[in-house]
Amino acid sequence: MWLVRLLTVDNEVVTTTQLDPLSEPVPQLGRDEAHHILAEGWNVEGELHPLHGERDLNFRVSVPSGPRYVLKIQNPADTAGVVDFQTTAVRHIRRVAPDLPVGDVIPTRHGEAWTTLTDAHGRHCHVRLLSYLDGHHARRDDLDGGDLYAWGRTVAQLGRALRGFVHPEAGYPIAWDIRRLPGVRSWASALDDERRHAVLEVVARHEERVAPALAALRAQVVHNDLSRDNVLVDDRQAITGITDFGDMTHTTLVCDLAIALADVLDGRENSLELAEPMIAGYAAVTPLEPAEGELLADLVAGRCAAALAIQAWRQDSHESAPSPSTGAWVMMQQLLHQGGGLDRVAGRFAAAAAPATPYRQRSTAELLTARRRILGPLPLTYERPVHLVRGRGVELYDADGRMYIDAYNNVPVLGHSHPAVTAAVSSQMRLLNTNSRYLHEAPIALAERLIETMPGGRYDRVLLVNSGSEANDLAWRIANFATGRSGGVVTSFAYHGITTATTDLSPEGWPQNSRPRNIRLVDSPSVGARSARTVAHAADELQAAGVGLAAMFVDGAFTSDGIWGPAPSWTQNALADVRAAGGLYVADEVQAGYGRTGDHLWSFAAHGLDADLVTLGKPMGNGYPVAAVLGSADVIDAFMETTDYFSTFGGNMVACAAALAVLQTIECEELIENARLVGGHLAGLLAELAGQYAILAPPRHWGLAFGVDIRSPDTGEMSHDIAQRLVNQMRERGVLIGLTGATGATLKIRPPLVFTTTHAEHLATEMQASLHDVAG
Ligand code: PMP
Repeated sequence: MWLVRLLTVDNEVVTTTQLDPLSEPVPQLGRDEAHHILAEGWNVEGELHPLHGERDLNFRVSVPSGPRYVLKIQNPADTAGVVDFQTTAVRHIRRVAPDLPVGDVIPTRHGEAWTTLTDAHGRHCHVRLLSYLDGHHARRDDLDGGDLYAWGRTVAQLGRALRGFVHPEAGYPIAWDIRRLPGVRSWASALDDERRHAVLEVVARHEERVAPALAALRAQVVHNDLSRDNVLVDDRQAITGITDFGDMTHTTLVCDLAIALADVLDGRENSLELAEPMIAGYAAVTPLEPAEGELLADLVAGRCAAALAIQAWRQDSHESAPSPSTGAWVMMQQLLHQGGGLDRVAGRFAAAAAPATPYRQRSTAELLTARRRILGPLPLTYERPVHLVRGRGVELYDADGRMYIDAYNNVPVLGHSHPAVTAAVSSQMRLLNTNSRYLHEAPIALAERLIETMPGGRYDRVLLVNSGSEANDLAWRIANFATGRSGGVVTSFAYHGITTATTDLSPEGWPQNSRPRNIRLVDSPSVGARSARTVAHAADELQAAGVGLAAMFVDGAFTSDGIWGPAPSWTQNALADVRAAGGLYVADEVQAGYGRTGDHLWSFAAHGLDADLVTLGKPMGNGYPVAAVLGSADVIDAFMETTDYFSTFGGNMVACAAALAVLQTIECEELIENARLVGGHLAGLLAELAGQYAILAPPRHWGLAFGVDIRSPDTGEMSHDIAQRLVNQMRERGVLIGLTGATGATLKIRPPLVFTTTHAEHLATEMQASLHDVAG
């Protein structure tokens, strides 16, 4: 009897008096006794050939001109419970997934799953007879990408077959469970210095980064050892058999794939590249959750570390133990030192685990050339373009696995790839997606929900479209129709869209001196302008020009003007002037809406504005295109009746599902409050930096919309050049921000609303370093 020290998953040391299957030698039994038990137990006679077994004694049984079997004399450490666990699992798999090549357990003459014997050392062993599976063990370097893809599929299929399987023994402690990795620490002392350090490094990383995340991941019974030793293949490397359920346990699902990766690739050349088809094969059957994909490389390293420590300890304690393979050591070094280190490899494995895309990945350089060739001068952000492959929350990852903090994008208001939106979009897409001229719940539910979120009782009509431009274009047509006029007023560097009409309303993109004759500009709150006079004046001018004021469009955060909200008196005065002139006030919430301002869902509501029309877009579907115009029936209905307005994609069911999920999630995750808190925190950090660096002005902000002016230290003038250098420095340091304002000298910081105070601090740290680089 061995005293076994094992760690529980919570790293508590437990001492058991159970036999340890790792340290208990293989059963000792002569061939005669084996023949005897075969005849006694199963009435079978045949030739016996010893088969390899790490812990069990195995024989191939060949009945002359009859079937072949495997006689398995289990390690004495395997209790009846464990043997029953393995037996019922195999029977379960054969029932739910008959296509998987798993051998049967042949009942004894008495209908039992096993019999027992006492070996030469007087140890009690369970004995089973299994059906024989044809095939041989694959040679490591014979497996190509296609074979590895198929291997990954098989691992996932076996996992799926086992997902409904439960057994009281499933949780018995086994050192090969990667979740118990810290338990190998004491065994690492048997390793030489170099290997021990590497193993301890992986274990430390596991405790810090992996273990806390594992508890939240999918767990079930898994085979846990789909190595080349336990899988049989034919001459074409197709899998013909799955054997040895001796390491099966209830653990984190993705560990099953990690173990197969470590043991099948086993440190061969290009292991890191060859891992990708195997991961993709697995994901094609069982899509990995993002957190599983991200931990995969660490779990593979964990398997290698466990293999090294356990093998070394075995060698130390049993002279007969097989000498350790070099594969685990080579593989671990590849993970730690090739491909830019374990973090980079983790990013790469996570990308391979991401859902399959209908395009192949080109290198960054190839893609850049192709983009220029095909899209022409369409600009890219940053001097050195960022080649993104995936995103999660506020983190974006490039093709090399490098992570960036997204402090720029407001479209993914809930963070990139939010599961609530992904689920809403994909399940609605699976059900139905048509235009909105059929009766369907989704657009109605969305319209009702949007109206509930609006202030006052004014808004009772919702028109669903596809983009902010389309929403503003439609609002413009409604305003023209309702007033019988065609003049517009916007702020001096406003942006409202790309259609012909909204381009006219967007001085940001006008060629010099090209103001359309029906548009007048007013100063944004930037220069302390009191809008009452200027808007009234603009309306008078339009009247004099014979067009009259149809509408004024106002982005509540004045994003393209340099970010100037909140501006309560400016907007209230503007609205009063617009009303007095008989025009409509359009609150363009494409930028400022959806909680960014940290006080209300809609920025115009914060100032108690009674806007005539409200336009929504950008964050509305967290990346799925959807936009809207809201107004009152008395303004909108006449337009609808006269114009036969219809948008094919506007209000499609998938878009509506995305938009509903966004509204729900903003509420559930309390993102408005988060925008307020984190916005306040970041403002404090940036204000501190402004005190240290003359080029950085104190920030302007409303919730999580920030404008920070950059000035030349020499002239004190706004400096586009320095601002641009800062933005590029930040990009190099892994934080994405942008520029705004008429001079292009204002930093625009506008992150997803799931930005945390930790992200804010990270941003401030990198900002300080960038300021240091740029300003010295
Ligand atoms: N309004 C505002 C205030 C915007 O910032 C934008 C886009 N930047 C739009 C409208 C147009 O939206 P889209 O690009 O979705 O057409």
